[in-house]
Amino acid sequence: MLNRRDFMKLGLGACLLPAVGVSRAEAVVSEEMYVFGTLVGVDVLSRNTDAARAAIADVSHRFTQQNRDWHAWKPGALGDLNRALAGGHTHEVAPDLLPLLHQARELARASGGLFNPAIGRLVGLWGFHHDTLPVGAPPHAAAVAELVAAAPSMDDLVFDGRRVGSRNPHVQIDLGGHAKGVALNQALDRLAALGHGNALVNLGGNLAVSGSHGDRPWHIGIRHPQGEGAIASLAVSGRMAVVTSGTYERYRQDGDKRYPHIIDPRSGQPAMHVVSATVLHPDAARADVAATALVVAGSTAWPEVARKLGVNDVMIVDEAGRVQLTPGMAARVHFAEPPASVKTVEIT
Ligand code: ADP
Ligand code: MG
Repeated sequence: MLNRRDFMKLGLGACLLPAVGVSRAEAVVSEEMYVFGTLVGVDVLSRNTDAARAAIADVSHRFTQQNRDWHAWKPGALGDLNRALAGGHTHEVAPDLLPLLHQARELARASGGLFNPAIGRLVGLWGFHHDTLPVGAPPHAAAVAELVAAAPSMDDLVFDGRRVGSRNPHVQIDLGGHAKGVALNQALDRLAALGHGNALVNLGGNLAVSGSHGDRPWHIGIRHPQGEGAIASLAVSGRMAVVTSGTYERYRQDGDKRYPHIIDPRSGQPAMHVVSATVLHPDAARADVAATALVVAGSTAWPEVARKLGVNDVMIVDEAGRVQLTPGMAARVHFAEPPASVKTVEIT
């Protein structure tokens, strides 16, 4: 069963279930750290505790670098690019940032623009470019409308090798909906290269696993978007990511109204109706992007967006607690308690 204490301790969107079934020589070596503005956990199944700890330290060091290089508003490689773009200049982008920009552009196109990492100014205008959550009235409608009309897009970027410019000075890149997925992929790749092919990485409830937990799969809980603990759990093994975007953790509070941190680029308004989208896919970066895009798509349009993004295993929870699942997801998840309603939806 779900380990409730882990949720309390971690405050995360998902957690490991208690360890059973590991052969005596192997043990799960776990470390926790605070990166990407969230609690991060790495679990490695290993016979050699020292080697596992060294590998986790290596990955943790990379997380710190990635957080700096890809950060949406703090000084770093992406900040340098954004400053150049705002000034109408081109900029030579750090080698490890460039592939993210290309991939983000492809995925933004595939999502029909619902995932749009070029809307950094809108995200900032709503107050989400701070460590603390914003409070008070929404930004002025005219300021929002101006940024929506400017229509910043990843397609405004002009690539010339490592030099990047923008045709649109309103482009400000915010990889908050993508970078953690990339980091998950790279962490599992790095752990595997160091000889640790059985691992689980948890970036604030966005998880990716490789291999297995000994003679059983990894067991994962998906956090309840409207309550404590898990809404559901599932077993995963091999290379797989389970990424959840929710509106319940980062939001602007204005009296009793909450404006979540995922913004619909078409209106400039926070996406209010889907409270969580979970995507299961071998590529954590695609899963991360898709989860964000599906929250924006909303409770009717999401299957079409999932299809365009090539994700088949999805769970959506709306503001009334109603659950929609694809058949693939329905076959895998176990609900902690029966939800208000559950509907299986094919991605055609
Ligand atoms: P989390 O980072 O909490 O796991 P997401 O992956 O959904 O959640 O990313 C949300 C972040 O993505 C926001 O905080 C913001 O930085 C950025 N963002 C907000 N709206 C969009 C959007 N429509 N497209 C791309 N990125 C967005
Ligand atoms: Mg995301």
